[in-house]
Amino acid sequence: SLSDKLQNIFKNLRGKGRLSEADVKAALKEVKMALLEADVNFKVVKQFVKSVEERAIGQDVMQSLTPGQMVIKIVNEEMVALMGSETTQIALKPGNEITVIMMAGLQGAGKTTTTAKLAGKFKAKGKKPLLAACDVYRPAAVEQLKINGEKQGVEVFSMGTGNNPVDIAKAAVSHAKNNNFNIVILDTAGRLHIDEDMMAELIKIKEEVKVDQTILVVDSMTGQDAVNVASSFNEKVGIDGVILTKLDGDTRGGAALSIKAVTGKPILYVGMGEKLSDLEQFYPDRMASRILGMGDVLTLIEKAEAQIDADKAKEMEQKFKKAEFDFNDFLEYMGQIRNMGGIGSILNMLPGMGLGGKMKGLDAGATEDAEANLKRTESIIYSMTAKERSNPDILNPSRKNRIARGAGVDISEVNKLVKQFDQMKKMMKQMPGMMKGAKKGRFKL
Ligand code: GDP
Ligand code: MG
Repeated sequence: SLSDKLQNIFKNLRGKGRLSEADVKAALKEVKMALLEADVNFKVVKQFVKSVEERAIGQDVMQSLTPGQMVIKIVNEEMVALMGSETTQIALKPGNEITVIMMAGLQGAGKTTTTAKLAGKFKAKGKKPLLAACDVYRPAAVEQLKINGEKQGVEVFSMGTGNNPVDIAKAAVSHAKNNNFNIVILDTAGRLHIDEDMMAELIKIKEEVKVDQTILVVDSMTGQDAVNVASSFNEKVGIDGVILTKLDGDTRGGAALSIKAVTGKPILYVGMGEKLSDLEQFYPDRMASRILGMGDVLTLIEKAEAQIDADKAKEMEQKFKKAEFDFNDFLEYMGQIRNMGGIGSILNMLPGMGLGGKMKGLDAGATEDAEANLKRTESIIYSMTAKERSNPDILNPSRKNRIARGAGVDISEVNKLVKQFDQMKKMMKQMPGMMKGAKKGRFKL
């Protein structure tokens, strides 16, 4: 499987403190082959390998990780990004307004099964879904939906096979309105291949019934074909999201990795079996770790990251205690903390800097002000000489004047910063242990 191949590749990267270009290139060449064999779209692979390479070459290997693990870390992060990073929910109308969802896809992809699976999810959320049997080409399809609907305890609206799908969809929506349903899921007919009639039918339903969400169901086992199907449906009918079925039987992962990158549309759920409970929300990070098949390594990487944060916090605490904290440290930690948690956590960290002030209930405007404030602060510090930064006590009026000119601010700003800095140092001396409880990505006071 893809996981096995990747694991072997990463095992061979070892024993170096910094990732060399040659090592990274050699490993990525194999990663590329493995991804192509897993049926990941060619363009996606090319772009993916390029991004990983750019990030990996010359990268310092974190303490307690091997070079191979360091590359896994980057590959994992890029995979998560490729799949859209965040989980996307199906957008439902508020309250009791009816959301009309149209299921589309080729025959056998899993539309009818997934329709019933989804109904179960909605029901569990307290919604009242109605299923509409719009596949009029196969009598068995109507029967199949009825059986599945019954299993889920969800009503199925059907008009047999004698009507056209557009009329059935319309009638289903008005039945829903009259009977307090708030979701209608239209189970449409597929064809064996992309087919103009099928597309035309879906477009017509979309126009005549106000469809809110068009969800494409594709079979993950078909790999790149699934991606091509998604592209054509998206171009011709327009889709809002994808449900990837039969992932339980897919060892390659190519479709999962490519769909978002190729179509721009997110994967919403994944089908993990034939049972009606076998539908799972799609989490890009879980999928990446599944594809990498390295749960243990990923946990290890997370721990290493947490350790680095803790080490840095400890180092900072030591400096605070000894009041050795100077403007160089200030700059460095600004950068680090910004990486970790953004301006919010900087504000929380610096009670004496007058940036945070009233930190409770910071709104966007206040955060913006604080950002501007911080930039000004940084430019003042950048206008200091190395000596001044490491020894702020030597800042006399003429030095301050020069700094103010360099930073393009009034000298009063420089005075204010130096004064606040002194106050902060004093406060920090009085608060030993303030940096304890530093958690990954967040500092708490
Ligand atoms: P439709 O033609 O698109 O409506 O597809 P169906 O819902 O009839 O499903 C076709 C076949 O795929 C059925 O045998 C389903 O039980 C099966 N199926 C659907 N989803 C999954 C899944 O996530 N995993 C597995 N293993 N089988 C599935
Ligand atoms: Mg069907």
